[in-house]
Amino acid sequence: MEPIQVIPYPILAGAIFSFGLVVGSFANVCIYRLPKKESVVIPRSHCPSCHSTLRPLDNIPLISYLILGGKCRNCAIRISLIYPTIEAITALLMLAGLLRFGTSLEFFVYALVATSLVIITAIDIKHQIIPDVITIPGIAFGLIVGICTIGYNDSLLGLFLGSGLFYLLAVLSNGGMGGGDIKLIAAIGALLGWQKVLLVIFIGAFLGSIVGLFLIIIQKKSRKSTIPFGPFLAVGTLITLFYGNSLIRVYLEYFGR
Ligand SMILES: [Zn+2]
Repeated sequence: MEPIQVIPYPILAGAIFSFGLVVGSFANVCIYRLPKKESVVIPRSHCPSCHSTLRPLDNIPLISYLILGGKCRNCAIRISLIYPTIEAITALLMLAGLLRFGTSLEFFVYALVATSLVIITAIDIKHQIIPDVITIPGIAFGLIVGICTIGYNDSLLGLFLGSGLFYLLAVLSNGGMGGGDIKLIAAIGALLGWQKVLLVIFIGAFLGSIVGLFLIIIQKKSRKSTIPFGPFLAVGTLITLFYGNSLIRVYLEYFGR
């Protein structure tokens, strides 16, 4: 029996959830600093308004936010709800990953991918960019894991099919699709292979058009404005990581004859 299996499940789940909160807290640092090209390691976390360094006790994910009532202890400025939301989402994603993948190597790959996608989503919504410091290592990571799991051919095919399609879209749409999206889908394609990268694109486009339509209806966006595509690719990737095999099987059963 593996040592980890002797840990009672509720304790394991609690530990993974707490781990998710800490990872989410680090994700917040990345979301805040990467677009400014600042180091994510130093200096220690500080208030974005008065720049006072956070005391360790005021830097506990989620809990400190609740205790401080969402305000900086030093200058009492309101701290954005985005921060605890990111922490909660990351923790819930880790918990979902544990339920789906158990304590396997797959879980750690998933945890890394899911965290990167949370960071990418937040940055893309806020700044309409997807940072190279995530996507370029992401392509290398996707290739290494892809070659080990789905094989050399499928991994490379996924990379080139995904990025090729997006490059074509970028040319045709005249700037509607950015270089960041192309690098992101290259990483996803290398990790998941050609079938699943198509599924990710399909889910992303489907969700993107629903949300786009909704934003036009509530008049938040005009027909001509663009919305960042990264978040939809992120959701599409997560859905594919969880249900990709089943979705592809259903598709092949109905349409693959
Ligand atoms: Zn402050």
